[in-house]
Amino acid sequence: MTSNMHTMELPRLIEIGEKNLDGFGRFLCSLAGGGGYGSSSAGGSSSSATKRPDGISLVSGSNVRRIIRKTVEGSLESAGIVYVWHKAGKNSPDSLDRIRAEIEEDDTEMVAGIGGGRSVDTAKMISFGIRRPFVSVPTAASHDGMASPFVSIKSDRPHSIVASAPLGVFVDINIIKSAPPGLLASGCGDLIANIIAVRDWQLGHRRTDEYYGRYAADLATMSAMMVIENSAEFAEKGTDARLIVEGLISAGVASCIAGSSRPCSGSEHLFSHALDAIAPGVGLHGEKCGIGSIMMAKLHGQDWRKIARALRDVGAPTTAEQVGLDADHIVRALCMAQGLRPERYTILSESEMTPRRALSLAKSTGIV
Ligand SMILES: [Zn+2]
Repeated sequence: MTSNMHTMELPRLIEIGEKNLDGFGRFLCSLAGGGGYGSSSAGGSSSSATKRPDGISLVSGSNVRRIIRKTVEGSLESAGIVYVWHKAGKNSPDSLDRIRAEIEEDDTEMVAGIGGGRSVDTAKMISFGIRRPFVSVPTAASHDGMASPFVSIKSDRPHSIVASAPLGVFVDINIIKSAPPGLLASGCGDLIANIIAVRDWQLGHRRTDEYYGRYAADLATMSAMMVIENSAEFAEKGTDARLIVEGLISAGVASCIAGSSRPCSGSEHLFSHALDAIAPGVGLHGEKCGIGSIMMAKLHGQDWRKIARALRDVGAPTTAEQVGLDADHIVRALCMAQGLRPERYTILSESEMTPRRALSLAKSTGIV
């Protein structure tokens, strides 16, 4: 591979609708046909570019399945698509191996992940491993994994690994709206984090001469700015789920364009990954990235108060306590963060983070 080679893998078809879940079968036929432009969101199947896929493996958790099962099955059956359900478990190597073996037996053409995060990640990783196209069906907007080629894995060194971009992304906003509001607020935190991630990327580019793609960076920044600029209105009228979903999809696409998670994952994500290891299961991904963004903004000399205000407006946590963490967790995570991924240059690479500095940073930004 030459050092200046750059490949981009992008989703082919993205549908965002309201109460459109009954069109899932039609959507899959458009995908299988390699078309998409001819399909009608009203549910018509007039397009000649549709073809029935040879079956689909569906990965979901039991709660989500209970809610969507009837509609999904009805839609697939009326499109004549064979389906096999699989229950997502923990993203541990054991459960992934089990589901993977089951799906390989299915002999289907595509794998869909239907859920808030884990099911989508599981399906994404498995479909990549067995080289079958992946379809993302997010039921909550809590992070930007729905359209990205990355998966978070839980291990001794939690971080993101590369899988492949979804072939299709199918969203029913009505389902996203009925998810607990904290999930949407977490999605806002994951979007706001892009501001920091892009700053870190620029810094890394200056210091280490790594690749920097302005188009991907600007796209990721735009998603974050949509949240920040509209947050006062969200505080008054409620967060616009559709705008957040569009932002999260754009962020995923920005990662596809960049060919790395750089535009959406910087020091604030390293901090969040450190918390995953220090206090497993406490707080949502976007909540941890949100409070991380406040502190990293201060290190970058950015307007951290503006970031805190936007998070507050959308109902996302702005203190450790609101996430369920204490000062010790925060200090340890700040000191551990950069070590999780030393090669990714961020503001935390600039000078050593000591417990004393960490505590002073957390206190000065109101995190503890
Ligand atoms: Zn994230």
